[in-house]
Formats: sequence, structure tokens, C-alpha cells
Amino acid sequence: MITIIKNADVYAPIPLGQKDLLLLNDKIEGIYDHLEVPQNFGKVQVIDAKGKYVVPGFIDSHVHFLGEGGEGSFHSRTPELELSDLIQAGITTVIGCLGTDGVCRDVKALFAKAKALEEDGVTSYIYTGSYEVPVITITGNIKSDIMLIDKILGVGELAISDHRSSQPTFEDFIKVVAQARVGGMLSNKAGIVNVHIGDGAGRLSYLIRMAEETEIPVTQVLPTHINRSGEVFEDGIRFAKLGGYVDLTTSTDPDYVYEGEIKASTGIKLLLQNEISPEQITLSSDGQGSYPSFNEKGQLVAISIAPVGSLYSEMRDSVLEDGVSLENALMTVTSNPADILKLSHKGRLKEGADADILILERASLKILNVIAKGKELYADEKVLAKGIYDK
Ligand code: ZN
Repeated sequence: MITIIKNADVYAPIPLGQKDLLLLNDKIEGIYDHLEVPQNFGKVQVIDAKGKYVVPGFIDSHVHFLGEGGEGSFHSRTPELELSDLIQAGITTVIGCLGTDGVCRDVKALFAKAKALEEDGVTSYIYTGSYEVPVITITGNIKSDIMLIDKILGVGELAISDHRSSQPTFEDFIKVVAQARVGGMLSNKAGIVNVHIGDGAGRLSYLIRMAEETEIPVTQVLPTHINRSGEVFEDGIRFAKLGGYVDLTTSTDPDYVYEGEIKASTGIKLLLQNEISPEQITLSSDGQGSYPSFNEKGQLVAISIAPVGSLYSEMRDSVLEDGVSLENALMTVTSNPADILKLSHKGRLKEGADADILILERASLKILNVIAKGKELYADEKVLAKGIYDK
């Protein structure tokens, strides 16, 4: 199948100017100044993107796509994510994780859901484990999970500084990171540890100790939720100044915002103002996780599901409301997660990369078209591919 996207204002995410893109099956064959389709050439789909932005499909590095255990007992378990939710959010690569519940949810079921999403048209990966240490794996240990199972890129989301964590010691934590690193080295994978930072007093202290006291590279971990409070955010800046990556969670429902939480779009601006390199910043949605709301007595009063669509809306808001450049905003959901997760075929528009592409309206940045692995999954405000049980 051949698709040509013409007259596109390409952000790859680096701005390339006006170009034509040639897609051949699931890959980008090339990016050209001008392409002319010969008469009677055969079946070629031509999309005119004049006056529109063409950007890489988004990568969401932290989604509870299997659903998650809710903090309001069994009946608050969140349901599985539907394919159409990802497509409408412009997410063409998704990384799934377990969370608080590592008992009634397991990595095998997460793997099966990842396979289902892949069969339905997007690209999926997973982390092994859950909040807990010792890490619960499929094959018996972290190293072999990463080496033997293609879809497993690392460990996560491993919880520290949180009343819901397994209270790992620093030594417990560092051993997990070491195993993930070696598993990754032996299989040409990231071996990254996605670290859930809670609102406990420890904040990012384990990660800062890792950077200062051990020989493990600071880039072996990706701390997430660093915008959950001003204090955690300050620690995130400290960690980033040591060379680490930092991940902002986009699901900040205004009705359920914890005190001091920083909107992700503003978080990007603040990190850049603090002279953190735009290459060290990522966004993820925490999508399909449960978002509980408690009253002053600590009783659960409401619970909702974190939307994956917030990944897109926070990227958009960072440009339209917080004054971040389109290039820097796009990097947080495209090339940066691709580099951190060692997905060299993702996150950039370039020759030979997977044809994961979004077309955006210029002024509003509204998503007009979604193409994943060369197939158009969204156009004219309609989802063109659905999961088998999608509503
Ligand atoms: Zn988390």
C-alpha cells in the first residue's frame, strides 16, 4: 500500500519545513521536497496536508491498559482500555503497566492485552512487575523477562515514597535497577525502571542516591508523577540537574487535583525555565488508572478513570497556553520516550521509521488524521479501526 502526504508542514519533531511524505506499507519510505504521482501508477492514497502540521504519532510510556485495582475495593477496579481511546488521543505506541494491584492483575494478563492492542493496529509494549518489590515476573526474574519476552522493555511501575508501596529499602531498589539494566544490555533493550514517586517524604531520594553513590547510569530510571506536588517537582529538578529524565503525569483532573499539583503543560515550561534540557522531559497519561478523591476524614468520596486523552491535551496546552515551542512540546511525547525506551523505529518522522503519523490543524492543534503503521485509523472525526468489543 502506498500513501503520499503532500504539502505537509513537517515537525519530525524537529521542523523540516514543507515536505511530501511517501509511506510504503507500514514504513516511511522517504521525505521529499516534492513528489508527483505518475498517471496509471496503481493504487495510491494521496492526503493533502496543505497548511497543516504533520508530526510523529504519540508514545505514551505509562498506561494501565489492563485496568487497575481501585482504592475503593474490588468494585472500583477500572476496566480495560479500548482501542478507540488510544486512537482518538493520537497514541500509536503504548506501554502498559500494572499498579497497586499485583495480585488480581498479573503480567501475563498485561502481556495478553498488549498483544490484543497490537493485533488491532497500534504498537504496544509492557513493563514487568507492579508497585512491588520483590518484582513479580513471568519467567521467574527480571533479567530473563526482559531478555526472553520481546514486549517487556523494563520494570514498572515500581512504587517508592508512597504509603501504598512495598516499602523497599534503597538496597532493594538498586538491585531491581541493576537487574533491569543488565537484562536490557544483553538484549538491546532499554531495561528502564519506571518509578512511581508517591507523596511520601522520601520523594526522589533513592534516585538521587543512585546517581550520587552508585555506578549505575542516572538514565536507567524514569521517575513519573514528578508534578504531583511542589516538593516532588523540586526534587525532580534536582534529579534532572544530575542528568536524569523526568516524567510529568498528564491526568490532572481539575476536580481531583491534589493540593500543590502542577499541571503537566505548565510543568514543561517550568522545567525549561530551570534550564533542564528539553530532551530530558517526557509526558505520560497514567491512563485508565483509578483517580480517587478523599474528603477531609480520608474517606473515599468519588473515583474516576484517568483519561489517555490527557497526553494530547497537555501537549497542546503547553504550546497554546504555556508558550512552549511546538518542537519542544512534541519531543515530550515522541522522540524523548522513543530514545529513553530505545525504540529507534518510533518517535521520529524519518526514512525507514514506522509510519506512525498525525496530521494536526494549525491554529488549534486539533488531531485530524491518525496513521499507525501505515494504516489510517482516524479521519473526518471518525475512528476507522475498532477493537472487537469496542463500543
Ligand atoms: Zn503511579
